[in-house]
Amino acid sequence: MPTSTLAIATVITAIAVAALLHWMVRLIRSADKADDKAVPPASLAPFGRKEPVNHTGIAWTTKTVNPFKGCSQCSPECQGCYAIQWAVRHQAKGSRGYAGTVKDGKFTGVIGIVPDEIDRLAKINTDLVFVNSMSDTYHSRVPDSAVKAVFDAMAANPFGTRFQILTKRATRMAKFSQGYAIPDKVWCGVTVGCKKSLHRLDALRQVKAAVRWVSCEPLLGPLDLTPWLADGTLSWVVVGGESGPRFRPMDKKWVEDIWQQCQRYGVPVFLKQWSARSPKTQTEYPPTINGQVWHQFP
Ligand code: SF4
Repeated sequence: MPTSTLAIATVITAIAVAALLHWMVRLIRSADKADDKAVPPASLAPFGRKEPVNHTGIAWTTKTVNPFKGCSQCSPECQGCYAIQWAVRHQAKGSRGYAGTVKDGKFTGVIGIVPDEIDRLAKINTDLVFVNSMSDTYHSRVPDSAVKAVFDAMAANPFGTRFQILTKRATRMAKFSQGYAIPDKVWCGVTVGCKKSLHRLDALRQVKAAVRWVSCEPLLGPLDLTPWLADGTLSWVVVGGESGPRFRPMDKKWVEDIWQQCQRYGVPVFLKQWSARSPKTQTEYPPTINGQVWHQFP
């Protein structure tokens, strides 16, 4: 090939590469802008701290991290567990940690542990992280060493990230906290959706943590939380109705009653959702009481 032809070909190639790079940069920037638009702006809670930007379907957190996979249904609140379908899909896809966790559309009790996800807890730089939203940190088949590894990673996080743990195995949570200094940035909570589960609040009373909270979701009946609000066990209450095709209806009166109990004792309350097939089919989203959205935080 003559030298002049080679030079022209080189220049054309260089121009093409530059144009391609320019186009890729514009594409990435426009994707970033689209992501920005997808995140709702932070709003100010009625009192308390500023509401976090939410990147999950759970309005009271910022992100979820799931070092443990799989669980077992142990309580009336578990009936419509969304984590089962998630596990079914991920086991079929061969995702890490899901092998053996479900069979015939049910949890088997096999727990998969993903060390990389534990490490991620030490590195994540965000506002709030809900840990093990798809499992239960204190499930009986999770070894103590794995629970400790999760807490060590959260303790080592240098970014001011705060962590939310929620369990139905409250007795184990209490026992663990007797032998481990829970950092103030870890909020320890239990699920109580019906009277039958109120005993978890007695176990929560034994948990040594700066922030102890309850998630009344799915709320399945009226609840009297006053003993645990009055004695300072609870510093945060989340209330929500069940969602999904077979949701169990939540009476608005039950929610108003819990809201009033929280007002009486000055405990922040977060009203997440009414019961409905999906947020889109709710009568009101987010829920209000006295014309106000109650997204309070401790
Ligand atoms: S404890 Fe949570 S994750 Fe486990 S089965 Fe019950 S609802 Fe599902």
